[in-house]
Amino acid sequence: MAERKFRVVVVGAGIAGLFMTEKLKRAGIDFTVYEKAGEVGGTWRDNTYPGLYVDVLSRQYEFPFQPNYDWSRKYAPGTEIQAYIRKVADQRGLREHIRFNEEIVEARFTGDRWRFTTAKGETDEADIFIAATGFLHKPVFPEIEGRDRFAGPSFHSARWDHGVAIAGKRWGVIGSGASGVQITEALAWENCNVTQFIRRAQWVHIRENPQSTWFERMLLRLPFAYRLRQRQLWKFINEADHWRLKPGPQRSAMEREFAGYLESIKDPELKKKLTPDYHLGCTRIPKSDRNYYAAVQRPNVCVEKGRIARIVPEGVEMADGTLHALDVLVYATGFDTHAYMRPMKVTGLNGVSIDEIWKNRIFSYGGIALPGFPNLFMLYGPFAPVNNVPVPMGLDQEIGYILRLIDMARGRGVAVAPSVAATEKFLARIGDAFPDTVWVGCKNWYSDQQGTPILWPLPQDAHKAFFDEVALEDLEFIPAAQSA
Ligand SMILES: Cc1cc2nc3c(=O)[nH]c(=O)nc-3n(C[C@H](O)[C@H](O)[C@H](O)COP(=O)(O)OP(=O)(O)OC[C@H]3O[C@@H](n4cnc5c(N)ncnc54)[C@H](O)[C@@H]3O)c2cc1C
Repeated sequence: MAERKFRVVVVGAGIAGLFMTEKLKRAGIDFTVYEKAGEVGGTWRDNTYPGLYVDVLSRQYEFPFQPNYDWSRKYAPGTEIQAYIRKVADQRGLREHIRFNEEIVEARFTGDRWRFTTAKGETDEADIFIAATGFLHKPVFPEIEGRDRFAGPSFHSARWDHGVAIAGKRWGVIGSGASGVQITEALAWENCNVTQFIRRAQWVHIRENPQSTWFERMLLRLPFAYRLRQRQLWKFINEADHWRLKPGPQRSAMEREFAGYLESIKDPELKKKLTPDYHLGCTRIPKSDRNYYAAVQRPNVCVEKGRIARIVPEGVEMADGTLHALDVLVYATGFDTHAYMRPMKVTGLNGVSIDEIWKNRIFSYGGIALPGFPNLFMLYGPFAPVNNVPVPMGLDQEIGYILRLIDMARGRGVAVAPSVAATEKFLARIGDAFPDTVWVGCKNWYSDQQGTPILWPLPQDAHKAFFDEVALEDLEFIPAAQSA
């Protein structure tokens, strides 16, 4: 009988899926990537709204295997990030492994392999299932009466309609998160009117975003300078994010700095509207490259704070009866942040699905694996460091670890999953770290219904340490062909 070929299926071709793809390719492992859209890039393909800039240093948003010496700015625009991702896919020959416009709707562990079903009804099988489906991928709309009654164009910020001209229109932007802030400040400097509808104020980081100089770009091409820069970045990240994890002078100094930005608002009423009533960092901090606070003081901009009663054909009606007449309405209302892999139906051992195990709480082992789901590895799953480690850096650590598990699975002819006990131990360690962090004590998109933030609450070097060593005692090795 011909020997069965060891295969991996990756679902998703955003930066996580492409990173994994490149590593699998280098390791000489057979794999296929399924991507439901027609292009790579995920977040950076879908979000094309004006004012989108990466919130970490451009240099931190690189695949470690493909430096980019030519970022135009300290914080690159979203279009540039997407161009870089596409370039990586082209130059590294990753596209030929991707089946575009193919959504995986079901993945089932059959006892020794994973069986996949696409939306077109085709099936595929693989030993390993990598879910690179993203954590900010499924747009969410608010439940506001009359959403379908608005007479003008309306769309989610992740589905920007570039057919709608900006100039001369009355724009409404619902949302005060990172997208709402970036869109409002971008529109503010255009020849149009903008009303931003917010329910609560955000701490906004007003930052400089200078262009990269010719000298910087040339310097980085020197291997020594590049290595030095990487080392500095690593050190910087470790130190810079400490304030999120422990209260102390660093956290207080940060709050003072941010409160200082608000001082530039002259109108006391507007300042009050935009002053948060919770601690800095509890929600994801919008980064402003074109001075949001200056933008909202322009005569063509209005910030409306309060509850929207309903949407009517002419615009937005507030609970106090005020009507804002609008031509275009943008929903910068975020994503279903805990959808992880869904709506895909994922079933592990004994016919148990992720919907069942996550019914009461979402959990994982290390953000990457689940007990009872052998050979399933998530990239940036629940408890991944979405906030205190740049995503490519976190991915590097996760992927290095997953490759070692894949090696074990392949070498021993087994399927690997964390044990229930190891998962509980991991969750207890994570749970113990939360009380001091800035992420507890206010409503934010990180937290589940019980108020537990589903992210990495430890220093980033602890993340590295977790993935540096495979803790064999945490794992169960299931002989292939065990009945499901
Ligand atoms: C507006 C916005 C701005 C952001 N800015 C930053 C930032 O500045 N810095 C930062 O670190 N992070 C930022 N993020 C977070 C960002 O999502 C991550 O940095 C990163 O892009 C996630 O990559 P990913 O590959 O894990 O997921 P995604 O980019 O979401 O990619 C997932 C891919 O999987 C595909 N997919 C999903 N389900 C299926 C299926 N069933 N079948 C087939 N294909 C499927 C999707 O089509 C998509 O292409 C931002 C997010 C948003 C929404």
